[in-house]
Amino acid sequence: MTLRIVIGMTMTAIALALAGWRVWWLYSVATSGQPAPERLEAARRHPGRDAKAEVTEVFGQRKLLKWTVPGLAHFVVFWAFVILLTVYIEAYGALFSKSFKIPGIGAWPVLGFLQDFIALAALAGIIVFAAIRIVDSPQRQGRKSRFKGSHLSGAWLILFMIFLVILTMFWFRGASVNAGNFPFNGAAFMSHLAGAALHPLGRGVNDTLETTGLLMHIAVMLAFLVIVVRSKHLHIFIAPLNVLFARRPDGLGALQPMRSAGKVLDFEEADPDTDIFGRGKIEDFTWKGFLDMATCTECGRCQSQCPAWNTGKPLSPKMVMLDLRDHALAKAPYLLADSDEAREQLPEAVKAEAARPLVGNEASRGVIDPDVLWSCTTCGACVEECPVDIEHIDHIVDMRRHQVLIESSFPAEASTLLKNLENKGNPWGMGEMARAEWMEDLAFEVPVVDGKIGNDVEYLFWVGCAGALEDRAKKTTRAVAELLHTAGVTFAVLGPMEACTGDPARRMGNEFLFSMLAQQNVETLNEAGVRKIVASCPHCFNSLAREYPQFGGDYEVIHHTQLLARLVAEGRLVPATPVEEKITYHDPCYLGRHNKVYTPPREIMANVPGVRAQEMHRCRERGFCCGAGGARMWMEERIGKRINAERIEEALGTDPDTVSTACPFCLVMLGDAIAEKKGTGAAKESLEVVDVAQLLMRSVKQPAAPNGEPPPPDGGQPGSGSAAPGS
Ligand code: SF4
Ligand code: SF4
Repeated sequence: MTLRIVIGMTMTAIALALAGWRVWWLYSVATSGQPAPERLEAARRHPGRDAKAEVTEVFGQRKLLKWTVPGLAHFVVFWAFVILLTVYIEAYGALFSKSFKIPGIGAWPVLGFLQDFIALAALAGIIVFAAIRIVDSPQRQGRKSRFKGSHLSGAWLILFMIFLVILTMFWFRGASVNAGNFPFNGAAFMSHLAGAALHPLGRGVNDTLETTGLLMHIAVMLAFLVIVVRSKHLHIFIAPLNVLFARRPDGLGALQPMRSAGKVLDFEEADPDTDIFGRGKIEDFTWKGFLDMATCTECGRCQSQCPAWNTGKPLSPKMVMLDLRDHALAKAPYLLADSDEAREQLPEAVKAEAARPLVGNEASRGVIDPDVLWSCTTCGACVEECPVDIEHIDHIVDMRRHQVLIESSFPAEASTLLKNLENKGNPWGMGEMARAEWMEDLAFEVPVVDGKIGNDVEYLFWVGCAGALEDRAKKTTRAVAELLHTAGVTFAVLGPMEACTGDPARRMGNEFLFSMLAQQNVETLNEAGVRKIVASCPHCFNSLAREYPQFGGDYEVIHHTQLLARLVAEGRLVPATPVEEKITYHDPCYLGRHNKVYTPPREIMANVPGVRAQEMHRCRERGFCCGAGGARMWMEERIGKRINAERIEEALGTDPDTVSTACPFCLVMLGDAIAEKKGTGAAKESLEVVDVAQLLMRSVKQPAAPNGEPPPPDGGQPGSGSAAPGS
């Protein structure tokens, strides 16, 4: 056995032992978490769907490529990792035989070209990465840098290691050309170029360089392996796993029911002493939660899109994942110890880490600060952006669940919301008869379901709490009803029998209250024989369509913009009166990102004559939240800039005559922000925010007669309702 075989294989054995031990330890930490049988079951039942996700997300780098320059750089570096595996097969073969060729492939010129080309492309990729890290460094950009809070030195080390891989590859291959052992012809252009550069050194030196280059090439890869399994670059190996076990189609839309030890929690039987209520400590997370933490690449894409982070709040979805991961790893010896005695003997630092509360302020050394936890609007921008399918919202809501249900700890002002939902079935605490008031003065009668919904009724119109009770949102409700009536669509409402879908309770973490409301509504809907629902609130739409199946409520649910767009396309609604305005549309998060309804509201606007539709920079998948989601509508916004102010400033940048949207909560939040801007003179007095249904109504209705007849009742003038609960 030659010396180079001994050195090569000894290095390999040591590195594999070190990396293997680390991988086993990480596996033990992850599996010390709660089971998640539903993830295994989903992967087992949908192999085709998961294979497609692997192809598009991992091999196609779909999400990364949304950011063109860093996306392309990552794409080539990723493919370099794949293709250069063949170089390592050749390198190990060359340890044993200098003229080794991969069986079946041999000296195929295409492979030689690909290997050299992708290595050069990866070199360009890491230069791009380095430039991005310098230009967008936290030192230069401060809080605007997506790398703020990331572990920066580790990233530079990895870039240097990739450079060494490429350098040693051409060192070894160039020398191999001169030693007469290189299998590929001139197609491996860079290797031959390196050979030409080394040629003047002579045959003897090249023989030595071939061996040392080979051993260095292998050593760099092995060092890389050992570093990677101890760094954020672990994602190189586990991102495909995280994608495999991710929620499909994505971690948006429905929240998952609360599970304890892998089983959905039944509140009638659940015991807070023995069951797990949300996440109160790190070991309450499932192995999928641990996998999420370990997979985070620290790229900061989520942070760059987060409305809370962008308005000066302490929440960064990236840092939530990093703080959880750092805590999990620091507490790991405690989690893995097999007895109280063993735990007692752990270093003080580990015991101190184990004693930290998962959620707590600085004084209590909490891992996640309550201000971080309660800043989230559940807008989904982080989940949408994350290239490795991390499910931030699930983790944040799970921690909220523990705080609300076990610790009774949440922003004080939200207690009015919960009380009103519990006692009155709506956030405002208004009497149930108030739900029918929006129908007064309509020129036609809206049937209210009494018992079974009529066979001749096509849709149940789910009005929602805001749509029924909030003055500004009521105008949308009336516009939708009038448009459906005009188009000849038969519909009925539940009136006083409708209760809040429970969306704010669920997003706040009160799963108990949500399940109560959901069960009550499902019972009402099922008893009425409802099959098709049109909802005008995206939050109701999301709960009814995506979450009520968890409670036995399976309906065909459509948002009013989808139905109205269809009615316009079918010619059943004819927008004829011009609306000569520049209109900027704001995407509601729960309609857009959570449910992918981007086109119908825009189609409606495009069909209204005279409308000049405009887009904000942050629109569609990158839409910026209005600040109301995640029950934030009912909480004070004490830290940083108001999110609705940030959003309306962006809208004002397009100089609109009108801002349109398709959600009653956005309507209220943006309306409030516009009112504030008018107060400071930053917005023109005529600026208003309307639902696209109101806009369509203006165009479908005939204009007011010049003889002084009253204008259309829902002409879109802003109302004066208040969103404050308890009013
Ligand atoms: S859901 Fe929205 S607010 Fe919450 S962490 Fe993600 S991006 Fe930020
Ligand atoms: S959570 Fe996802 S998007 Fe955010 S930093 Fe980690 S990998 Fe990047």
